[in-house]
Amino acid sequence: MGNSGSLLAKIVTELRFELKGMKIEVDSRGYYGNFGGAYIPEMLFPNVEELRQNYLSILQDASFRQEFDHLLKTYVGRPTPLYYATRLSEKYQSKIYLKREDLCHTGAHKVNNTVGQILLAKRLGKQKIIAETGAGQHGVATATVCALMGMECIVYMGEVDMARQRPNVERMRILGTEVRPARSGSKTLKDATNEAMRHWINHPVDTHYIIGSVVGPHPYPDMVARFQSVISEEIKWQLKETEGRENPDFVVACVGGGSNAAGAFYHYFDQDDVQLIAVEAAGLGNQSGESAATTVLGKPGVLHGSKTLLMQTSDGQVVEPYSISAGLDYPGIGPVHAHLFESGRGQFYSATDEEAMKAGILLSRLEGIIPAIESAHALAALDKMSFEQDDIIVVNLSGRGDKDLETYIKWGGY
Ligand SMILES: *Cc1c(COP(=O)(O)O)cnc(C)c1O
Repeated sequence: MGNSGSLLAKIVTELRFELKGMKIEVDSRGYYGNFGGAYIPEMLFPNVEELRQNYLSILQDASFRQEFDHLLKTYVGRPTPLYYATRLSEKYQSKIYLKREDLCHTGAHKVNNTVGQILLAKRLGKQKIIAETGAGQHGVATATVCALMGMECIVYMGEVDMARQRPNVERMRILGTEVRPARSGSKTLKDATNEAMRHWINHPVDTHYIIGSVVGPHPYPDMVARFQSVISEEIKWQLKETEGRENPDFVVACVGGGSNAAGAFYHYFDQDDVQLIAVEAAGLGNQSGESAATTVLGKPGVLHGSKTLLMQTSDGQVVEPYSISAGLDYPGIGPVHAHLFESGRGQFYSATDEEAMKAGILLSRLEGIIPAIESAHALAALDKMSFEQDDIIVVNLSGRGDKDLETYIKWGGY
């Protein structure tokens, strides 16, 4: 651990991988191939180390599993349906299933992780929760479980983001969470992250920091992926029931930080017959200067406590990303996705604002489901892929479009 500059210098950049039978698994130091680790200030070490030493034994404990599964079932509404989209399948001349994470309580997959982390926080004896949020969706998912558990919650949010995402700020407040504005720097997500880290350093004993995607220092990416892995766990038995086989030919998911994709891919990482399709946001186009497609534009670097791919200037300043979808508007991707990309195990596509909006309206018209604009990016990739008639494709529908109504209205074209 220690300061990220000196550690970065030691990183081996040699590329070594084997595609066949490859294991996408985190090693004991928190690396997926060349990416991951824990690049944190010395003062954060005790907090992260406490988590690292305890998370696996807590997650594997039978009574923890029982409590987690019970809440997923009775509170979140799991299992979510695996829906055969007849009209969409006709359009693409193949068999398309939608994994309906949009039907989770609060309208997206994020709550799978916040339920898991708050139960873990309780096992660690923590009484208070902090989080940071950009678009506000992770803040709402965190505020929700804090209300559920009667735990005190502070969510840091950039002042600029608070103004842009007013409804989510009010949702958090209704739920009893204090939203603290981050007023430094660009007053957006990375400033909120810095404030949350500082808060955690000053309150190491009673506070747990809930990170909302497969990002952050080890063990967060692995821990969040495990909580979200319920998505592919369910896809396996649901597909077995309807198609007689557990493995589809493709799993498609959008990637912001990468938690819904990691959950949808998790039990297929080592299944070579399943193609893993990750879709990033290309904004106004990857060459426009207004994009969030990290694997196209990013380079290795350290972001949010781990070594990963991120969008940065030649002197290492983080570049502000852009996407019409607030949840994909992130300058990096989790280390597991950087590894999926580098190793070739995952195929990465990107979809522009326009392609995503069209795909969102198409799904609304064909299936009566208005998707979150994040999820619409995953749907947009169907136009860029080619399949056989009896190919089975599972698209992870990460969230519903209610929160995006204003954006749909402004976009028009329906
Ligand atoms: C937050 C969010 C995303 C992006 O986050 P990941 O960690 O990449 O999954 C995608 N879809 C929805 C609906 C979201 O709310």
